Amino acid sequence: MYPLSIKNLIEVISRLPSIGKRQAFRLVFYLIRHNEIRHELILKLNDLNKNIKICHQCFLPFEGANNLCDICNNPKRLSNIICIVEKEIDVFSIEQTRLFSGTYHILGHLINPSDINSYNTLRLDVLEKRIKNLPEKIAEEIIIAVNPTTEGDLTAMYLERKLKNLAKKITRIGRGIPTGGEIEFADEETIKNSLFNRR
Ligand SMILES: [Zn+2]
Repeated sequence: MYPLSIKNLIEVISRLPSIGKRQAFRLVFYLIRHNEIRHELILKLNDLNKNIKICHQCFLPFEGANNLCDICNNPKRLSNIICIVEKEIDVFSIEQTRLFSGTYHILGHLINPSDINSYNTLRLDVLEKRIKNLPEKIAEEIIIAVNPTTEGDLTAMYLERKLKNLAKKITRIGRGIPTGGEIEFADEETIKNSLFNRR
């Protein structure tokens, strides 16, 4: 009943997280009515396509001529202190506190107990290789900063077991964040406290 180009766009947009079919419908018809936003969106998506690279080391998206992101590339950041987070936005939440001088590893997702495959796609091979390339071949500290949810706790336990020979000490933050809460939505003060009180 709808033209194919509308149908196709609705299909793509409804694949985005937290957007259902109904919302996708609304967005697409909004874009059809508003030429300016539509054109701007096309330009910005093109820019994103052209300019954004993913850091080989920590998986943070970045722009520029380097192969690594600004954090991994910064000689002042400690490459032997690695903070493991679920997603990109968690890096920005922690960076805002300006308290952390180490580097990151972005998992991309947490372990989902009903998906066996989710254990194998945490990019731990990249992390392991990176630690083995350190001068000491072991990390000084690995900080696990995942949300204190059921999946976060399961992921943290798995990481502690998997990485125990790769770091002198493994700590966890996120305990100051209310149970079931998310680092993404925690305020700066809460994140600061949980960084100070990691254990
Ligand atoms: Zn990086």
